[in-house]
Amino acid sequence: MRNLYSLYNSTNTNDLCAGCTILDKEKPNYSITDYDSLDRNDVLFLSDSFYHRFGKSMAFSKQEKELISDCFDHDASFSASVKCPSVKEADMSPDNMKLCRQHLDLTIQRVKPILVFTCGNLAMKMLIKKSGITDKRGRSYDYTTDEGHSCVVVPIFHPYSVVKEPRHRILFETDIRNAYEKYVLEKKHEGKLQYKVLTDIQEVIKLAYDLKDTEETLAMDIETTGLNFLKDSIQTIAISSRETNWVIPCDHKDSPFRKGESHYEKMWRNLRAILENPKNKKVFHNAKFDLKFLINYGIYTKNVWDTKIMHHFLDENLPKSLMDLVKLYFPTELESL
Ligand code: SF4
Repeated sequence: MRNLYSLYNSTNTNDLCAGCTILDKEKPNYSITDYDSLDRNDVLFLSDSFYHRFGKSMAFSKQEKELISDCFDHDASFSASVKCPSVKEADMSPDNMKLCRQHLDLTIQRVKPILVFTCGNLAMKMLIKKSGITDKRGRSYDYTTDEGHSCVVVPIFHPYSVVKEPRHRILFETDIRNAYEKYVLEKKHEGKLQYKVLTDIQEVIKLAYDLKDTEETLAMDIETTGLNFLKDSIQTIAISSRETNWVIPCDHKDSPFRKGESHYEKMWRNLRAILENPKNKKVFHNAKFDLKFLINYGIYTKNVWDTKIMHHFLDENLPKSLMDLVKLYFPTELESL
């Protein structure tokens, strides 16, 4: 086999690759400078390394390309982040990556994309030097080439992993759609989130008066000083109706309610009236965390709904952190995906 490969792999290396240990491995070819023939495009999909089949090296297999076309109905360029075939992440030492990034930089410079989708962990690591695709997928990062072209990089799952794990498809599709709409179509968030911080006890009393018997669903969230409900305290409680958002700085270190005992107690009494109202739904995300803290303050919240559990019922395979849900349902609400 060694001799067979050596028949045609000895001549096609590139000066930029000098010192790369991938050259010591048996490959059908090396240093595929596909960027020489790429055209300018708004969108670039980057795979990990080239896929080699029947004498041809391609950035993505036919099946992977079909999946991308199914999910993305626009023109795009395709390339590999590592310019040799069948290179695994484990083969790419930091030095190898550094060498190969020169090719990658030339690729971006050639295509001049607005948006780059790095598919899988290796492509993400090659371009933005970060790892952990499960956490970072769908987020956005800035990249500027040596010659000064700037673009946005959004890591997504590798289409191969979506073919293998169809449950990833909805996230793959959503990440592509959200990023394309935001960065290429420049669809902006229209509304402005406004909230009112209540710093006067009369405002809290008025809020309790308005909400203690309401049947309107309210979204609730608490911020705490830590994760341990036995030791940590509630800094703020946020309440959202369909129209308005209120924030009450309950036990925040600068809370005006901590200055006088009577105001402090009144504040909690009024908040209890809102939270223990049985007539309306209180929607939390991961409610058990918030409820444990509230019980510590003597508040037994009634009629609790939980978006984490509801989302699990919709599709148990999807990630359910608050950020994942916002990315999925309200991507334009985020300044940065
Ligand atoms: S991995 Fe990159 S740097 Fe190394 S030989 Fe291949 S193209 Fe060159």
